[in-house]
Amino acid sequence: MSEARQDRIVIVGGGHAGAALANALAAAGLAARTHLVCAESELPYQRPPLSKAFLKNPAEALQLHRGEGWFAEAGVTLHRGDAAHSIARAARTLTLRSGAVLPYEWLVLATGATARTLPGLPAGLANVAVLRSAADALRLRDLLTAASRVTVLGGGFIGLEIAATANALGKSVAVLEAAPRLLQRSLSPELAEHVLATHRANGIDVRLGATVGDFVIEGERIAALSVDGVREPVELLVMGIGAAPDVQLAQAAGLECNNGIVVDASLRTSDPAILAIGDCAAFPEHGGARRLRLESVQNANDQARTALATIQGASDSYRALPWFWSEQGSMRLQMAGLMPPEGTRHRRPGATPASFSILHYAGERLMCVESVNAPLDHMAARKLLEAGKSPAPALACDAAVPLKQHI
Ligand code: FAD
Ligand code: NAP
Repeated sequence: MSEARQDRIVIVGGGHAGAALANALAAAGLAARTHLVCAESELPYQRPPLSKAFLKNPAEALQLHRGEGWFAEAGVTLHRGDAAHSIARAARTLTLRSGAVLPYEWLVLATGATARTLPGLPAGLANVAVLRSAADALRLRDLLTAASRVTVLGGGFIGLEIAATANALGKSVAVLEAAPRLLQRSLSPELAEHVLATHRANGIDVRLGATVGDFVIEGERIAALSVDGVREPVELLVMGIGAAPDVQLAQAAGLECNNGIVVDASLRTSDPAILAIGDCAAFPEHGGARRLRLESVQNANDQARTALATIQGASDSYRALPWFWSEQGSMRLQMAGLMPPEGTRHRRPGATPASFSILHYAGERLMCVESVNAPLDHMAARKLLEAGKSPAPALACDAAVPLKQHI
């Protein structure tokens, strides 16, 4: 069934980026033109709690971006449980799985990313899980309740958050990380070392440089995994081995993709009527030469703002300061800015050994601040970085002087 309205703004994906854009369009008075197409049947919800409070507590409900009534009142049309199937760029229409055809003036791809799985491992095993969606989290919550021992593959954010949650639930937990250290993609070696020591002190068996080989399948279950050449029994296996950008729809429509959907600084794809935002978008670094793809709530929210500006005809470019957080047991990790490929690192002590910040400089320029259990440092760091201010390391690392004093 085809609908006639030609001035539509159609968003594909009701995750953080899609929901933030629908919200921003409604606030800008454009709700009546907005369609939000969601493959999942749930109302758009927050993903971060899925590896934290939601996983720990069976009474915890999904945290929705907006209730159902908001969409109806605001006038945003929601297509739930109906994935986008194909784009006809010349005709400017999007076809959904149900057969519905939506004409668009603007199409925004906010398709996110898909959890990676271990190559060769059969799909659908009863005691193997990934965590990306609400459905995954509900399933993992049940599996965790029943398990006494959990093997987590991958020592990135997701693996470590799940490991900390399972540990807090009293499970025996092993983390197998292929790299020689934890969080290689996201944290400095010093902070990763602190994270490792804290998890080990809490009783999590973290193994670095672990090589996972073949596996033994018995019926519907994985029974054992070969780790560094030794077969180990597996009760529940959770994979946190990264996520791949969801580019299928874009690729099939002939849009340029390279580790994500390639966009310019205004977040336009190789077709100027189509934008891409969030985890799926590979964008040019502001003031740098790199092409980045960031997987974070901040990036999804801030790119939704830039997409609104582009739709409204402003020549804005995406330049928001990246920041991230992760909660792992007693540790609240917060990062502002991006670590320079080469630079110097300076430790700013906190009130306790479990609380400190690491300041990264490229020459004399402050580029990034990582904090653990130091939320005031993090907030001050964001302001300093946004303002382009760089206190000398010796001044910034004087624990007696609050970081915010340098703003
Ligand atoms: P997503 O939120 O993944 O949304 C994409 C949506 O698009 C999905 O709902 C998908 O079903 C839908 N979709 C895909 N293809 C189609 C299609 N063809 N048609 C229709 N719909 C489609 N980040 C942080 O900064 N801090 C955290 O603490 C944190 N914790 C996290 C915990 C977990 C368990 C997970 C999974 C992620 C976490 N993240 C965290 C990362 C953060 O959630 C993501 O960066 C963010 O969700 C990205 O938003 P997005 O809209 O780009 O993608
Ligand atoms: P990730 O950060 O890429 O971490 C995956 C880790 O698994 C990497 O250290 C990787 O090592 C390792 N690995 C890969 N293959 C392996 C194997 N076969 N055996 C053992 N280890 C292996 O990704 P993630 O932690 O899975 O996160 C997935 C998504 O969730 C991302 O979008 C992430 O941003 C999001 N998320 C974010 C947060 C947050 O920001 N707080 C929290 C949870 C989830 P190599 O690097 O050597 O490949």
